[in-house]
Amino acid sequence: MSTLPVAAKFKPYTRQTIDQSRQWGWLDASQQEAVQVLSHVLPFRTNEYVMDQLIDWNNIPDDPIYRLTFPHRDMLPAAEYEQLRELVLLRRDPQAIARYVHALRLRMNPHPAGQMTHNVPRVNDAPLHGLQHKYDQTVLFFPSAGQTCHAYCTFCFRWPQFVGMEDMKFNASQSDELVSYLKMHPEVTDVLITGGDPMIMNTRSLASYIEPLLAPELAHIQNIRIGTKSVAYWPQRFVSDRDADELLRLFERVVKAGKNLAVMAHYSHAVELRQDIAQQAVKRIVGTGATVRMQGPLIRHINEDPRGWAELWQTGVRLGAIPYYMFVERDTGPRAYFQLPLAKAHEIFQAAYQMVSGLSRTVRGPSMSAFPGKVVIDGIVTLGGEKVFALQFLQARNPDWVRKPFYAKFDPSATWMDDLKPAFGETKFFFEADAAAERKVIPLLPAGRAHADSRCADSLQA
Ligand code: SF4
Repeated sequence: MSTLPVAAKFKPYTRQTIDQSRQWGWLDASQQEAVQVLSHVLPFRTNEYVMDQLIDWNNIPDDPIYRLTFPHRDMLPAAEYEQLRELVLLRRDPQAIARYVHALRLRMNPHPAGQMTHNVPRVNDAPLHGLQHKYDQTVLFFPSAGQTCHAYCTFCFRWPQFVGMEDMKFNASQSDELVSYLKMHPEVTDVLITGGDPMIMNTRSLASYIEPLLAPELAHIQNIRIGTKSVAYWPQRFVSDRDADELLRLFERVVKAGKNLAVMAHYSHAVELRQDIAQQAVKRIVGTGATVRMQGPLIRHINEDPRGWAELWQTGVRLGAIPYYMFVERDTGPRAYFQLPLAKAHEIFQAAYQMVSGLSRTVRGPSMSAFPGKVVIDGIVTLGGEKVFALQFLQARNPDWVRKPFYAKFDPSATWMDDLKPAFGETKFFFEADAAAERKVIPLLPAGRAHADSRCADSLQA
């Protein structure tokens, strides 16, 4: 395994160029075929750092980072894989491939949790396509220049962003609409700049989105969050990229302006934080006065070992980061390949939690970013002779629902909120009485006008 020079230049690989990498010849024919076939449906992008430093090529295909970034044939049901394989490798008819690929993508629930229908705010009945607003305090902003990543995760819940599903894309080319919207919504305290990965932008572009948020009329914005996987896939962004120092100066300006700059750092596996450069990245970010919060989803084949989570959180805390969320893999994309039963997710979270000291126990989970809100599995208990999941909302479309305990019948095979049934003979969960109203698309008008509900937006998993 070679080591990249410290000041390495970012070099991505895609379906079109992966065969130019020196590792391509290490894959057997069926592994190469899976990449060529599946990358027509799911986005595929990796880079030299991920290939050289994070993947253990002696452990292919089981290596977790290989599974995280390289498509595997089991990510599609066998019949679908065969049909796609025939179209791509034998018939080679671009129109037939495009039609079939589109049908497969639509089957994969490209926008879970009402992202396209319920979370897009509107002003004067016009949708603001680069924004989501689901929870009162937090607005998500999708700058158009930040809608790719340094590498793509095979489980990604934002995958339609990367595969040209134009009608399913969020992006905003300027921050003007965001600023106008925020001025009308004094209840918003947090802006999450997300993607894709905003850190794919150079510092000048990122600054053009962030600096307007420091204006005196946006004093109610207290926290500027940046959702990023660059800390794992390209930590050079904070250490040795040409404008890495300039980036840190930008973070310092935000902190000096009295805001909290929170880097929402997506880590999937302990190996991502074992590298010197990844550790330097965290230290440099924290050194600016910004905070780093660690989060990531629990994914079968990748991070089922609680010891890996414990190591990740402990290393992060030592470097000054704050463990924040373990998510349940979302109901989108090749979900059948990656999902774990909720009971198993709870078991893994609990085991990892028990291995770490109090400083790492800031982490919450396992949490589902579901349609009504973020639901955490607190435990599996027997009450009145019935075995149940104990649940609560950490965030909700309706703030009144937050932190009210509720219970679902224990189901060992349930993998998502939609699989759960209310416990104790109830026919509905308490929040479902309001759900009919919540499922309507509600036009959002500026505060002070005939004000509809401004609760929307997703919070992140990446
Ligand atoms: S999960 Fe995050 S880092 Fe991974 S591909 Fe999706 S948006 Fe990019």
